[in-house]
Amino acid sequence: MTRLAVSESASSHAPQGDTPPGADEGDAAPLWRPAPPAPGSVESRIAEVRVKLHPRSVSGTFAHWRIVFVVLTQLVFYGLPWVQWEGRQAVLFDLAARKFYLFGLVLWPQDVVYLAVLLVISALALFLFTAVAGRLFCGYACPQTVYTEIFMWIERRIEGDRLARIRLDEAPWNARKIRLKLSKHALWILLAWWTGSTFIGYFAPIRDLGEQLFTLQLGPWQWFWMLFYGFATWGNAGFMRESVCKYMCPYARFQSVMVDRDTFVVTYDHKRGEPRGGRSRKVDHRGAGMGDCVDCSLCVQVCPTGIDIRDGLQYMCIGCGACIDACAQVMDKMQYPKGLIRYTSDRAIADGLDARATRRRLWRPRVLVYGAAIGLLAVGFVVSLALRSPLRVDVVRDRNVLAREVAGGLIENIYRLQFINTSNEPLTLQLAADGLPGLSVRTVPEDRQEVRVPPSSNLLVPVVVRAPTDAGTPGSHPIQFVLRSAPGQSGAQLDLHEAASFYLPQ
Ligand code: SF4
Ligand code: SF4
Repeated sequence: MTRLAVSESASSHAPQGDTPPGADEGDAAPLWRPAPPAPGSVESRIAEVRVKLHPRSVSGTFAHWRIVFVVLTQLVFYGLPWVQWEGRQAVLFDLAARKFYLFGLVLWPQDVVYLAVLLVISALALFLFTAVAGRLFCGYACPQTVYTEIFMWIERRIEGDRLARIRLDEAPWNARKIRLKLSKHALWILLAWWTGSTFIGYFAPIRDLGEQLFTLQLGPWQWFWMLFYGFATWGNAGFMRESVCKYMCPYARFQSVMVDRDTFVVTYDHKRGEPRGGRSRKVDHRGAGMGDCVDCSLCVQVCPTGIDIRDGLQYMCIGCGACIDACAQVMDKMQYPKGLIRYTSDRAIADGLDARATRRRLWRPRVLVYGAAIGLLAVGFVVSLALRSPLRVDVVRDRNVLAREVAGGLIENIYRLQFINTSNEPLTLQLAADGLPGLSVRTVPEDRQEVRVPPSSNLLVPVVVRAPTDAGTPGSHPIQFVLRSAPGQSGAQLDLHEAASFYLPQ
């Protein structure tokens, strides 16, 4: 069994309050903890869920990247609904009108295939990133990680770092504890409410929501989703945290089939680190038969999911790299080379590959297949959008009136034309029909041969088609509606042909 096999027996019971060698917080007396239940037992699983983690803050390269991604993703999430495009909200999923606005693009329910392709591309991209570098999405862009980071940042500002929080949680309730907890929850709830409000701003014009909110004119569904999403944010990022990643997220469970021995994952170099143990900086640890790991447990203390990466890759690891940053600081202090915990592959550690050989092994069939599939789908998506007709027409026969004779020796059939203008420009169309001699088309009741379809709208237009009684033999005849852009119409020149049938009675 390779070390990449998903392990559930990781040591997630690392001591929370012990004093690590190499720690710079001045953490003094170890805090006593009751003996944990037997590993693997039901009690230990339940205890794991209940135990509140107090991850220690850490700085370093990966911590900086996490901050960058938190800021970027939140700028997009909170800012996007406020962006205007051609006089309307740039991104709006208008469920009531069944229209999705994406900047210059207006998608209708008939365009669901585009959304499906986008979802497939996103899923393949997730598979690709996972095959290349494990759970990059989880560590840096997953909403659960991002909001947990923000909520923990607020918590640290108010309650202090790890040891201060542990002490506060264990202290009896007093005025200071109540004040700190109230302040923290007030800020959490404010942020959660803002998040919920922004969320519904993707489904209803956000500029109207503020006024509707303060005048209590939101609809019941808007209230529900704002409170539900806000409550979920508060609960998941404030309380559930790593439990969502460990026990609720399906991606965590099937990642093991997407990574292999060449995937870059956060890895403890056990060859270099073992045997682990405390020592003085001056000791020649190699001479004493020791590895580079000083067993300070800092990598465990900073881990947001509370696992020990030295037990090998585990499904609970979200690939955030916090343990890499923490261990790099310890290595610096001990004047050992960095990289005892690093992004590398299982094969690189096992076979002692250098960085270049490890990177070369990234180009393997599954990566190339995922990349090619994403490329093909992306090209097809863009080409299909570029060639998409701005007008859709559906012809529906009026079933109540099959055919009737009217003045002038003519037979009349009635249809309804359903126009969908997916562009942001009005479209003016000239109507005609061919397939039988002497066919004419007029709109009802305007009696015109021209139709104007407003931008981003659908329009149902009744039309009558007339033909001389002697235009053909009795029965049904195939005809087609011809819809052309009116002279002077700007933009794409349309020439659509829609099949229909014309009935000539006996
Ligand atoms: S791997 Fe690094 S951070 Fe973790 S216990 Fe060993 S020396 Fe400390
Ligand atoms: S083991 Fe390291 S990379 Fe994995 S979740 Fe914990 S801190 Fe993040």
